[in-house]
Amino acid sequence: YYNNNTLIYLDGKFVKASEATTDLYCQTLHYGYGVFEGIRAYATETGTRVFKAKEHYNRLKNSAALINIPFDYSTQELVDATYELLEKNNLNDAYVRPLVFCDPNMSLARPNNVSIMICAWEWGAYLGDKRLRLTVSSYCRPHPRSIKIEAKVCGHYVNSILATNEAKDKGFDEALLLDSDGYLAEGPGANLFFEKNGVLFTPQLGNILPGITRATVLELAEKLGVEVKQGLYKPEVLVSADSAFFCGTAAEVIGIESVDERKFPKSWNESLGRKLQEAYSRLIRNSEKILSTTH
Ligand code: PMP
Repeated sequence: YYNNNTLIYLDGKFVKASEATTDLYCQTLHYGYGVFEGIRAYATETGTRVFKAKEHYNRLKNSAALINIPFDYSTQELVDATYELLEKNNLNDAYVRPLVFCDPNMSLARPNNVSIMICAWEWGAYLGDKRLRLTVSSYCRPHPRSIKIEAKVCGHYVNSILATNEAKDKGFDEALLLDSDGYLAEGPGANLFFEKNGVLFTPQLGNILPGITRATVLELAEKLGVEVKQGLYKPEVLVSADSAFFCGTAAEVIGIESVDERKFPKSWNESLGRKLQEAYSRLIRNSEKILSTTH
């Protein structure tokens, strides 16, 4: 992720990644009480563009507010710092990871002070470009009354890691998690869509992370004239679907081959997922058309 020359952004300054440190009494390290983002930057004809930068930093600020972490940077400051960070590290196609973490504090009380670090590195397709073989996880997503499910909180990712490890140990590429009522939710780090009879379906907001890629896919589907329904769906509905895909900043749009060895009948090349994958790849490389995320 970094070498001796890599710079990271830390509380308003650019410092060497290899020399930056944190306190072992950091509240985030002990309790997972911190928030983060996953953002991608792409090389476009008019230079490097941080895709949906504002949306990601707005979500970061919202995540912090939802769990009572005081964090008062403006979105613009953070966007500017990200561009500067990419330039200083000579990165064009990169993954950007901002993390808001708390001061040393062993209590469970809200922090008085927090820090932000932003790092970036060159990163290819997160889940590869092969279609995924999924398994339905024995872990469910955390109940929205236990945590703030719409916040991207460090500690929530223990659930994602457990589900990923379980899926890999069983020989699958990736997990699919249900919510605590048994409805389809999302992957460990991506949102789910599936296609049936020419209509696209996706789990509604409420028990999932409101993905920025999910919002982008909804906009692209609308532009392409594809009907999309959002609701609560049981796994049986997915099993009888024609095709399916995951989407997320890291994974982008990636096809799903099977769920617990049951293959989807429609060929990927003819699926709505493939059309949206193409539209998404065009959009991320397009320096002009920036859609707003309103879903
Ligand atoms: N769900 C979860 C649990 C995630 O971690 C992610 C990745 N941030 C997503 C969905 C997709 O979100 P986005 O499109 O904003 O990256």
